[in-house]
Amino acid sequence: MATSAKAPVPQEADPLTGVRVAAPVDWKGRKTTPDNLEILVLAGHADSQGMEGAGTSGAAVDRGGARPMDPRMRDELFWNRRIRDAVARTGQQRGLQIRSYEPDQLTISDEDDPRTNWSEGRRHHDAGGYALEIHFDAYGRHGFGSGLIPNLRSPATRIDESLALNFGRYPLNFRGGLGAPRRGISILEIGKLEGQLEQKLRDPRSRNAVVSALALRIVTAMELGMAKAPASRLLSSPPDADDSAPQGRDRQTSAEDG
Ligand SMILES: [Zn+2]
Repeated sequence: MATSAKAPVPQEADPLTGVRVAAPVDWKGRKTTPDNLEILVLAGHADSQGMEGAGTSGAAVDRGGARPMDPRMRDELFWNRRIRDAVARTGQQRGLQIRSYEPDQLTISDEDDPRTNWSEGRRHHDAGGYALEIHFDAYGRHGFGSGLIPNLRSPATRIDESLALNFGRYPLNFRGGLGAPRRGISILEIGKLEGQLEQKLRDPRSRNAVVSALALRIVTAMELGMAKAPASRLLSSPPDADDSAPQGRDRQTSAEDG
């Protein structure tokens, strides 16, 4: 992590999505995207259930003893899929060229199998599109918080920039470069799967409203990144975050959680 003389500031927390990742700003998305940009939205861990990299079970299950939302999958995937579908639906309603992808297999052991998220995302990126994979981060000290990790296969776009301004900004080479970003897919960590966010998702009375609100927030941020307005008109940047996010520490939940 970069060093700086900045005094630590309290980590900013969003009332719904909780704490943002605290990391120094080491990238900026400047690349503009074409008017006819096609967007692909993926659900993180959709094809890696029952193997390393299955995602987080969430605090309700791991700490609270709650039943998983769906016994076939970690709770993170359950919510990633709900958000993925809502983002695609909302984006289509608002006139974006956006689609979702479902591998239709909860476990695909070969990550380069043509049906995986990563293969589909890489094809989409290499054809000139923008690919975004939805995630929730691990709870407690196993996670870092909400934020955007840009694709590493080409320069970060203004869509990445807009999402980072809205949700937070992970370092460009987070954990040495994750599988998805190396294949041209940007990762959005919506928030840690714990606390208010998880409770409101699990509560049937608030679930649909929370899913819709998160989807609208994501779509609106993408729209702002595609707009012709100068980058300075994007949502204002959060205060400088401190440098305290620990890296490379031992994570008790599985290595790819979140
Ligand atoms: Zn994840």
